[in-house]
Amino acid sequence: MFIDDTIAAIATAPGEGGIGIIRISGERSLSVAEEIFRSMSGKLIKDYKTRTLVYGNIVDGDKVIDEVLVAYMKGPNSYTAEDVIEINCHGGFISVKKILELILSKDVRLAEQGEFTKRAFLNGRIDLSQAEAIIDVIKAKTDMAHEVAQNQLEGSLSNKIKDLRMKVTEVLAHLEVAIDFSEEDVEEITYQTLEEKARELKNEIKKLYDTAESGKILRDGLKTVIVGKPNVGKSSLLNSILGENRAIVTDIPGTTRDVIEEFVNIKGIPLKIVDTAGIRETEDVVEKIGVEKSKESFNSADLVIMVLDSSRQLSDEDLEILANLENKKTIVLLNKTDLEQKIEEDKIRQYVDNDSIIRISALKHEGIEEIHDKIESMVYKGSIKNTSSLVITNSRHKDALLRAYESINDAISAIEQNLPYDFIEVDFKNIWDYLGYINGDTVKEDLLDTIFSNFCIGK
Ligand code: GDP
Ligand code: ZN
Repeated sequence: MFIDDTIAAIATAPGEGGIGIIRISGERSLSVAEEIFRSMSGKLIKDYKTRTLVYGNIVDGDKVIDEVLVAYMKGPNSYTAEDVIEINCHGGFISVKKILELILSKDVRLAEQGEFTKRAFLNGRIDLSQAEAIIDVIKAKTDMAHEVAQNQLEGSLSNKIKDLRMKVTEVLAHLEVAIDFSEEDVEEITYQTLEEKARELKNEIKKLYDTAESGKILRDGLKTVIVGKPNVGKSSLLNSILGENRAIVTDIPGTTRDVIEEFVNIKGIPLKIVDTAGIRETEDVVEKIGVEKSKESFNSADLVIMVLDSSRQLSDEDLEILANLENKKTIVLLNKTDLEQKIEEDKIRQYVDNDSIIRISALKHEGIEEIHDKIESMVYKGSIKNTSSLVITNSRHKDALLRAYESINDAISAIEQNLPYDFIEVDFKNIWDYLGYINGDTVKEDLLDTIFSNFCIGK
């Protein structure tokens, strides 16, 4: 693909800040910059070493627009692998906007979302899994999520996919020789060898696929709801958990005022406590939402934390919520263990496993660590040992692996039946294609557009 237009966008987040950055990429970058920039030294940008900051003014004719630092990164040694100019101006809304407008008046087009990164991909500087890792780095909610994304950006997944595809290619080469020269006296690959290779590949794909559940949680957060009837200690618990571990609070754009996601960092796991009406703001909203609403909210949750008051006997309301926990990842907290105990634990065990029940005192801050351990073991089930492990965090990659896995199963069954080589070849070609979805090798243009439209403008 040949890219011949030049694009520009504001790269920094909108709002007041120390500096704002405008980025230009493409053939005309340098000439546009020379046109609108006057260095204090009087020299042209091209007379400086590339990748150095040059001090001067952005001018529109004789009029100074802003005082800036400009960097020229000559392709291919730049983010997009094209000629890139970055202008560091004063932060805020107006400087960046004026400079961008000036640039756009010089036959430069406003970049689409993610277009800089898309160009880095199209120009072959990074593969698709690395491009996708960039957005994950930006959106990471915990150190661990960040590290996993960073590894992917450095090429951990790319290398693995390359390696797997190489193995597929080897098998394909053998098969092709066997197909082309079947009449002649060439050494043929045996069905036994084929099966060994296929099974080896299957194991590797499966292993990778199995990291996806934890990986998704690492990236998107574990959607968690806290349920229980009034006064059992939900707010106290939440405060206990939030106190030390609050990660990030985000307002979801486009929704009405009340929806807030609290990201709590539990042992590197971003717990997305979905708070449909803002526990933080109105104190006791969970009880206002009521039992009906609780049931609704935990239908969409990855984890339900149910709180019970252990100083009281179970009520019908408690039992009703318990009865709805089936098939959910659940932790039941018996709160207020500092008081005299009246709750009937054996009744609770009719609804949930014993090891999902944890005794705590939110008031005395007892048992909170156990909650953390429990969540950790539920999420990771030992599948992620540390952040340097390769983890599939992206559902698109997961889908591609699943398809590759299905094709390898087809291949194995064809091999077991001693079907002709060209049948088996079809399956291996499919594996090769599906794995290529992950690094972008076999992805179509319209899918690319969808992927990059999730990026920010200027990235
Ligand atoms: P919510 O209505 O479920 O959110 O419950 P709150 O967190 O508002 O707590 C209700 C009452 O129980 C408050 O007076 C808390 O101080 C008290 N409480 C919460 N946790 C404990 C606990 O572990 N022990 C004792 N003794 N009281 C608690
Ligand atoms: Zn409350």
